Amino acid sequence: MLTLTELWRAGDRLDPALRARCNAELARLRTLWRARPAIFSAEALAALKEVSQAVKDRAVQLTLAASRPAVGDDDIRRVLKTTFGYDAFRAGQEEIIRAVLAGRDCVGIMPTGAGKSLTYQIPARVLGGTTLVVSPLIALMKDQVDAMNDVGIRATYLNSSLMPDERRRRVADLAAGAYELCYAAPEGIEASVGNVLARIDLRLIAVDEAHCISHWGHDFRPAYRNLAGLKRRFGGVPVLALTATATPAVTSDIIQQLAMVQPAQFRGRFFRPNLHLHVYCKGKGDGRGARERRADGDLREVPQVREAVLRLVSSRPGQSGVVYCLSRKSVESTAEFLRQHGIRAVGYHAGMEADERNRVQEAFRRDDADVVVATVAFGMGIDKSNIRFVIHRDMPRSMEGYYQEIGRAGRDGLPSDCVLFYSWADVMSYDRFGDDVEPAVAARQRAQAREMFRFAEARICRHQAVTRYLGEAMDVCGTSCDVCQSDDVLAASARPRPTRAPGAA
Ligand code: ADP
Ligand code: MG
Ligand code: ZN
Repeated sequence: MLTLTELWRAGDRLDPALRARCNAELARLRTLWRARPAIFSAEALAALKEVSQAVKDRAVQLTLAASRPAVGDDDIRRVLKTTFGYDAFRAGQEEIIRAVLAGRDCVGIMPTGAGKSLTYQIPARVLGGTTLVVSPLIALMKDQVDAMNDVGIRATYLNSSLMPDERRRRVADLAAGAYELCYAAPEGIEASVGNVLARIDLRLIAVDEAHCISHWGHDFRPAYRNLAGLKRRFGGVPVLALTATATPAVTSDIIQQLAMVQPAQFRGRFFRPNLHLHVYCKGKGDGRGARERRADGDLREVPQVREAVLRLVSSRPGQSGVVYCLSRKSVESTAEFLRQHGIRAVGYHAGMEADERNRVQEAFRRDDADVVVATVAFGMGIDKSNIRFVIHRDMPRSMEGYYQEIGRAGRDGLPSDCVLFYSWADVMSYDRFGDDVEPAVAARQRAQAREMFRFAEARICRHQAVTRYLGEAMDVCGTSCDVCQSDDVLAASARPRPTRAPGAA
């Protein structure tokens, strides 16, 4: 028994003879177990199962490797150009694609807008068979599939929005090998999608927004737990996990939960010099108790945060921006307040009907609304390049959350302002949210809120602090934060001046 495990672990797993010997030994032990189950301890059985699974996975990998077409550098560049119309890869894309095509598991950590989708779209075209993409962004799947179909990639999606007949039809087509690319929501993986996956020629599984699987991440989604052990469940098909936020803890959580095997890791650069970061402490007690800015510039306290927000927004007429608030109530009151002052502001939070939320997103996308006042429910998957400012009316719940939210500004590379208002009261509010979650999760959330608070209070380069948190080392930015530049964006913002007459919103 032990010898079998040792044999497998020590041997050259690429060697077909080794697999044959292991299989023979497994067969012998199985017969023995049938005759005299009592002589097998629980550990021995577990070890046996493990080896048997590993041997099977290896066989699947070898079959996949044999059927994988040989793809050269020129081939993937040609697909980049002819199918997608791009001249060059962006940083990290080619490395990830190579790793995936070589059959390796891979974790790609790149900022939003870096072009992560291409790292599974090109393999989907090149690998043959079907590439599955797991994504939480159900609302975007149709657009993504349309975009793929436009460039000539056979793509579809499966999620809860489909009528049963349509769903059945797609599943049948999928099983018949009609699609190169299939997007699916994590909810479906446990049920019908999971069943069909076992029957199709699956060549790659990409898990988008992979941080959603981790409790330690800023956006945990219970449905992502359906992906646990993904690698094992689908017999060794390569898994590509993609995310824009992953601290070292989240990264190792992703790898472990998906049961990825020695994944290649690619980490993009997170420093965004066009984002100008500013931080202000909110005045005590409901915004009363104004205090002068201290002579050394250490603590910039604003008495009335909503006045400050109005001032920032009014001095940027016609520009797109997001104002993040901690609660739904404050979303509604802040949006109303801005509207009263002639700003084209709309509210967005998870308590609104789906239709209403879509309308808000659409209005913002088309520049019919300038400012979205929102809770954290707003933003994942928002692909709007000209967001000129992101204001945090309240402190974000974590550093990852902060980075994600400010990261929605300035995708076009143009200068954009990110203004954070914070207070200890915000930390206390998050503590109260923790009342109805598991103790371990609550403790983690408490720690994250405090980390965020310390960041706000500290007098070190903001960009350096954020990127360090994300595992990147950089020098001080020198140009793009209030610590390095000691500029005062509030003072620099002109007096409120309405973009339109009040009530015209
Ligand atoms: P992410 O998922 O990392 O946030 P996306 O995959 O949505 O980013 O890509 C962001 C944008 O970049 C898309 O509009 C995409 O078409 C574009 N893009 C991706 N790769 C390239 C490339 N190599 N050259 C030019 N544009 C690209
Ligand atoms: Mg993406
Ligand atoms: Zn700096």
